[in-house]
Amino acid sequence: MEKVKIAVVGAGPAGIACGVEAKVNNIEPVVIFEKAQHICDTIQRLYRAGKRVDAVYRGVDVEPVGICRFDTESKEEFLKRMENFVKDYNLNIQLKSEVNKITKVDDGYEITVNWEPKYIADFVIIAIGIFGQPNRPSYPIPKEAKSRVFLEPPTSPLSGKILVVGGGDTAAEVACFMCDCAAEVSLSYRRPQFFRINPVNLQNLEERAKAGKINLMMATDIEKIEGAGDKVKVYFKDGKEELYDYICYCLGGTSPKGFLRQVGVELDEEERPVIDEYFEVKNMPKVFLAGDIGVKKGSILLAFNTAHIVIERIKEKYLK
Ligand SMILES: Cc1cc2nc3c(=O)[nH]c(=O)nc-3n(C[C@H](O)[C@H](O)[C@H](O)COP(=O)(O)OP(=O)(O)OC[C@H]3O[C@@H](n4cnc5c(N)ncnc54)[C@H](O)[C@@H]3O)c2cc1C
Repeated sequence: MEKVKIAVVGAGPAGIACGVEAKVNNIEPVVIFEKAQHICDTIQRLYRAGKRVDAVYRGVDVEPVGICRFDTESKEEFLKRMENFVKDYNLNIQLKSEVNKITKVDDGYEITVNWEPKYIADFVIIAIGIFGQPNRPSYPIPKEAKSRVFLEPPTSPLSGKILVVGGGDTAAEVACFMCDCAAEVSLSYRRPQFFRINPVNLQNLEERAKAGKINLMMATDIEKIEGAGDKVKVYFKDGKEELYDYICYCLGGTSPKGFLRQVGVELDEEERPVIDEYFEVKNMPKVFLAGDIGVKKGSILLAFNTAHIVIERIKEKYLK
């Protein structure tokens, strides 16, 4: 079995930033495992072509503290930036390598990759994000409606009558994108007004709503949905019923509790991982969380910052 100093699980913004921060601190060897066949799977898969990647996301202005940082740019520019980090810092990223188990052994943590124990690491950083599992609505999605329902933001245009459900930046962007591609779009949000939405997205939505291109259905909630031939029937809690060609849920993601439980990370009563202020797992010393999985409301800059904090902590607490 190969021995490494740090094993990083996930090559998204957080995992790559961990690799960069470790490299500049001469902490080696570091190996980054990525289950997809490319880096930054969340961005590659869920951001549509040309999407603006906002540095200020969900209204939270994060001051960068580490080496990795960026200003608002397109998806393609951002991915190029990440590829350049990998190249410039010569990071060892193992693609198509899913970590399934992390087991404490005498001389560190044994990392099981694609169901084979392969590496022993002194430190493990879990940076798997939260978008492997999208949040689902509280009501069931009937089998007959499944082909008309998106639980993750669609990256290609849809035609017909579309209902976007959610009130965050992703819901706003999906609604505007579909509307600009000539679909008839309604957006249903539980709250009477948007909360913590990016000002550009808010303006885009309001302009289209004013022009009658998007139907903003504020303070609406859905009771249930049903398949209706080649459409989906939506029953709103106020008694209204409506047929749509597609529903796009933009409800964010949840902490991948299954993975955390499986590797032995203790979860609190809200099922959040129990970590200290440096993102070290309380019941698994030398195991850290970085990026979305370690914070309440994640963003790319926050993911970069958590990577910096984790590597500094490893250096100060364990390697001095
Ligand atoms: C549609 C959409 C739009 C967004 N827009 C913005 C924006 O404009 N600005 C912004 O700051 N943020 C935005 N975000 C949020 C941003 O994408 C996340 O905060 C960021 O990607 C978090 O980085 P991360 O590295 O923690 O996780 P992720 O980017 O989710 O990366 C996790 C990586 O881990 C891999 N992985 C998972 N499990 C395993 C495993 N067991 N073994 C190996 N690899 C594994 C995944 O394949 C993935 O590549 C958006 C999110 C979405 C969904």
